[in-house]
Amino acid sequence: MSEILIHGARVVDPSQNLDAIQPIAIRDGRLVDPDSLEHPITLNLPGKTITPGLIDLHVHLREPGQTHKEDIASATAAAAAGGFTTVLAMPNTLPPPDNAEHVRLIRNLVDDHAAVNVLLSGCLSQNRAGNAPTNATELRDAGCVALSDDGSTPQDESVMRDIMTQAAKLNLPVIDHCENLALSKPGVMHQGRIAQLLHLPGQPREAELSIVRRDLRLAAETGCHIHLQHLSCRESVELLAQAQAHGVHATAEVTPHHLLLTDADCLRYGTLAKMAPPLREEQDRQTLIAALRDGIISVLATDHAPHTAQEKAQGWLKAPFGIIGIQQVVPLCLDQLVHTGLLTLPQLIARLTTGPASLLASTTPQLGTLRLGAPAALTILDLNATHTLTPEASLSRSTNAPWFGRSCRGTVIGIIKP
Ligand SMILES: [Zn+2]
Repeated sequence: MSEILIHGARVVDPSQNLDAIQPIAIRDGRLVDPDSLEHPITLNLPGKTITPGLIDLHVHLREPGQTHKEDIASATAAAAAGGFTTVLAMPNTLPPPDNAEHVRLIRNLVDDHAAVNVLLSGCLSQNRAGNAPTNATELRDAGCVALSDDGSTPQDESVMRDIMTQAAKLNLPVIDHCENLALSKPGVMHQGRIAQLLHLPGQPREAELSIVRRDLRLAAETGCHIHLQHLSCRESVELLAQAQAHGVHATAEVTPHHLLLTDADCLRYGTLAKMAPPLREEQDRQTLIAALRDGIISVLATDHAPHTAQEKAQGWLKAPFGIIGIQQVVPLCLDQLVHTGLLTLPQLIARLTTGPASLLASTTPQLGTLRLGAPAALTILDLNATHTLTPEASLSRSTNAPWFGRSCRGTVIGIIKP
């Protein structure tokens, strides 16, 4: 029997509306009543903050298939250092998890190499090609907790309707990358003043909005839970809020880069600011922050997308979309959102715990909470320690991010996992 008693820390648990200094007790990997411990190891953590283990719903592990960018061990080491105890792996691996055999192959790799709890999303369409739906029951039975084609979405509405109808019957969320390729190609950044200045092809807002509209309509029609990934446009927030008000089962996430950067940052950071969807304008950024604060957007997710330096050095037209962020998101958001007063600490922690946990509740209960009896997944923060984000400290195999060199007030001390 192993027993741990943690004293002196501020405990912030949005699942219980809890924000107080109180003890936390762990026995054999579960949270228990402190009075029930007999011979605990005691940790004194005055000045530190403990939250439920953080959850990132949007991570590209790159294994199998692209281990020159990242692998399961390095991505999950970065996740642990970033304060995350659970991540949802996106399906754009080689092979993609579009049938039970592929899911089992990835599951075995995860079981052998992951440093944190890794959940899998199965594909919406066969080979992620968008032409034919997968078998959602087969994927659920193989252990997938959500369905997504992230990186793209089926452009054919009938494929999306089919998979959402299947997912609704199974109570599985469909997690969608909202991009209409007929409108987004060949754009490499937001269609606006900066793209004009750089003489680069832009992506119009409608490339996102047309799919957001489609997905919300199909969610209303099928009863499926739709989760919209990495929203970038203020109009998307309006569409989402309207659908929620009409009772559509719709949630959404926003990334740290869409909260903290705009297309003007493309001038400063070059292809380290090339992502899909693209960085938009200041008014979009402000709307996304307000929606995250108000809970219209209930999830903060990183879209941790490793690429090598050589790949990112190919220039705007050729470089791949995406940046890393799983190890940096908490310091960045404590510094830029909490210490600036834009979000309270419990609001930020809710978007990293209860928000994502509610998507996974039907398959993976007891995530994102410090309730007695739950698995002892905890994150320990120091809200006031100041440090500089450096590539040397990054545990990811790739360093493609505009975050390095920033000094942040607020840091992750570590995690405890069951
Ligand atoms: Zn995506």
